[in-house]
Amino acid sequence: MNPVLFTPAYLAACFSDNYTDAQQKFKQLGHGQPEHRAYREFVYPQTGPNAETLLTAVSWHGDTDAPCLLVLQSATHGVEGFAGSAIQLDTLQTLTGKSLPAGVAVLYIHVLNPFGFAWLRRVNEDGVDLNRNFVDFTRPLPTNTGYAQLADKILPASLADWESATQALTEYANEFGQQALELAVSGGQYQFADGLFYGGTHPSQTRLNLEQIMADFDIVKRKRVAVIDIHSGLGPFGYGEVICDHPPGSTGVKLAKQWYGNSVTEPALGSSTSVTKLGLIDYLWQQQLAEKVCFVTLEFGTYTVDEMFEVLRRDHYLHRNSVAWSAPETQQVKQAVRRFFYPGTADWQEMVLMRGRQCVRQALQGLSSSL
Ligand SMILES: [Zn+2]
Repeated sequence: MNPVLFTPAYLAACFSDNYTDAQQKFKQLGHGQPEHRAYREFVYPQTGPNAETLLTAVSWHGDTDAPCLLVLQSATHGVEGFAGSAIQLDTLQTLTGKSLPAGVAVLYIHVLNPFGFAWLRRVNEDGVDLNRNFVDFTRPLPTNTGYAQLADKILPASLADWESATQALTEYANEFGQQALELAVSGGQYQFADGLFYGGTHPSQTRLNLEQIMADFDIVKRKRVAVIDIHSGLGPFGYGEVICDHPPGSTGVKLAKQWYGNSVTEPALGSSTSVTKLGLIDYLWQQQLAEKVCFVTLEFGTYTVDEMFEVLRRDHYLHRNSVAWSAPETQQVKQAVRRFFYPGTADWQEMVLMRGRQCVRQALQGLSSSL
């Protein structure tokens, strides 16, 4: 890889101002590489707030028959795509030619949730949190009694009730603990469609696209697959936490620790800033590839969980009605969401790229040693 040269111009080449900017850069950079083999677009019927086309772009680099594969995924949570897209664009520029180990290919899945990225939301076009959508919808859906209990406090009926509702959430945390509050609010729920961390009623378009991508590129036939799904908004400012949701003691966890080291955390053991969650995107990969996959979430910290809940509550309140994009009250909410998930300062951007490079290198070495 190239030496670290995070000039302002380089940061601007990696970090985009909005979804469309990111998509254009990705398409251009992906096609510019000699090891580029395939490019596909999955277009959504919806558009962005300024009538932008929305799509997930997929780009394959390296030998199409490679037994080992690194998959880089971004924007599962829409607005968190600023960080994920930047790591993908940085990797496209640094991981070229001979720096790609023999027998290892890279699949870039750029912006899984373009609606959320363009509209500056975590959720998709149906208000669904994609990282809670990977449950078996043919079976009774999980219940979240904590969320049900707090639903009208999380999203009050009117702005006049906002302060008292927020106070009620604080009291819940004081009585049952901060972790209980986080589990209730963010663990996932399948009952309140306009609410936060809602998993939906059926497999989302993105889930179907991902299944199609896995089939198109014969992913289940690979010997070993590393997936890095990039997020932002949890943990210390700028720190990239490698979170592993494979079952404790499983091969997935062992590989994650072998490859990424002892900083790997496990929600199931309470060692992560993340609580355990329902319906994670990880589960599709685990189901299809079993012990052949090591899936990690690379989560970059920004501000506090309380601030996150506040900006998300404001955003969901806004989206209860049709949204006038350029109205000042809309922009106030949207800019707060954007700043929370993408602080956009040079120090934060550098930390994202440095950790991203480290994890990509570790994954490639891990895959290479699996040959
Ligand atoms: Zn996320």
